[in-house]
Order: sequence, then C-alpha cells, then structure tokens
Amino acid sequence: MTRLGEMSKSTLIALLVLFFSPLFHLQSRTSAFATSPPSHTSQTNAHEVHCSRERSRAAWKVIEEYLMPFVEKEKYPISRKCRLHPDNDMFKDQEQHKIHVDINEWQCGYCKKSFYAEKYIDMHFNNRHYDLVNVNGSKCLANLCGALHCDLVMDFQPPKAKCNPAAAAKNRQLCENLANICFPINESPSSSRLHGLFMHQFCDAHTCSSGSKPFSRGGKKHASIFYLSISILTLMLLPLFYTLVYLYRRGLRRNTQDLKRASRMGRKKKPS
Ligand SMILES: [Zn+2]
Repeated sequence: MTRLGEMSKSTLIALLVLFFSPLFHLQSRTSAFATSPPSHTSQTNAHEVHCSRERSRAAWKVIEEYLMPFVEKEKYPISRKCRLHPDNDMFKDQEQHKIHVDINEWQCGYCKKSFYAEKYIDMHFNNRHYDLVNVNGSKCLANLCGALHCDLVMDFQPPKAKCNPAAAAKNRQLCENLANICFPINESPSSSRLHGLFMHQFCDAHTCSSGSKPFSRGGKKHASIFYLSISILTLMLLPLFYTLVYLYRRGLRRNTQDLKRASRMGRKKKPS
C-alpha cells in the first residue's frame, strides 16, 4: 500500500515537472534582465530617458499609417527640421533592431537574445543598449502625441475624459506648428497640398465642438491582402465549379439518352 502511495507520488511529481517545464523554459529565455545585477540599475538611472518608448512607437505608427502614404504620393522630401522626420525619433535605431521572429518571440538585433514579449525586449534595450538611444536634440516623438492622436492607435486606450477646451487648443497649436514647419504653404504646390491634408487629417479634430474626426482622409490601404486571398480562393474554386458543371451535364445527357432508348423500345413494342 505504501509502495503504491510512493509510486503515485513520483508519478505526480513527474507530471508536475512535465507541466511546468515550458514555463521554466520561458523564464530562462528572459533571464537576461531578471538576473541583471542591481548595480546596473543605478547605472541606467544616470542614463534615464524621459521619453516614453511606447508612445513614441504609437506616434510613429500614426505617421506611417496616416501621413506617409500621402507624402510618398507627392514624392515630398520631409526636411530634418521637421520633427516628423524619421531621424528625429530617438528610439529609431533600437526599433529597427527589434526582430519579430514569431508571435511570442522577439529577438534583439544587437546581441541576438530572445524574449517572449515586446515589453521585455524594451526593458532589455533600456538596460543593455541605453547607449544606442539618440538623445541629442529634441527627439522625443512621444511629445507630439497630443497633436497626432496617438491614443487612437495604442493597444491600451485610456478611458474617454471630458473634453478640455484649453488642452484641445494647446494640441491644435502644436499641430499647426508641425504643419507650418513640415509643410510650409509657400514652398511648393505639393508642400501646400500636404499642409492642407495635415490640417484636415490631424489638426481640425482638436476641438471640443463635435465636427471633424481625426484621420478623416483615411490611411494606408490594408485591403490588398484581403483581395489577394479572395482571388486565390476563386482560382482554386473555379476548376471545382467547372468539374461539377461537366458532371451534371454528362449526367443529364445520359438521362436523355436513356429516355430516348426507352421510348424507342416502347414504340417497337406497340405494333405487336
Ligand atoms: Zn541585446
């Protein structure tokens, strides 16, 4: 009886090990920062960057999605003076070294370490590669979030607060300044067109009176993948459709032949 108890206990332990081993595996993957010595943390505090990486990423997402398609269409070169220029994002180099291998795997392009969530690779960048953040000049893209409506593209959207007219006016001012510096009205026809677009797309919505909505001119077209899959599906189903039609018509022909034969036989039988 006791031997049986010992056996079931060891089976239970084996089962527990089997069940939890994937979790241990995941933890060992992220051990890079879990085991980082505390002395390192005090070192990073000296290099602390007062700019949100997450919001900078959201700002870049807005720019790429709702501005760049129009800038590319106009073939307009954005100047370095404009804060929307890609080089004016202090996290740009690090973000470009973020390799999204799989849904649950992110790899650091500098040292090849793997992480199972984006927030852990962000922590790794902050701890291990802080020297690669470009802090020269005013390069915090997150500071433009007020003008660019970043909240609308972030995974976590803050609860809607009551519209504050002063804050709306401040954001509109920031937005108009961006439009004036990035797309000067008198520079060229394309610059003037982009100025107008920028105002409609981002600035007009900074008001408490309901009216125009942000991103009113639309964004990048995502429909191409949808149409591609639909056409592939159609191409696959077409031969099946024709085969079915062919089989149906062949069946119909055979039926009529049988009928003709039957009626001929009937006619032959009649005289007798
Ligand atoms: Zn690394």
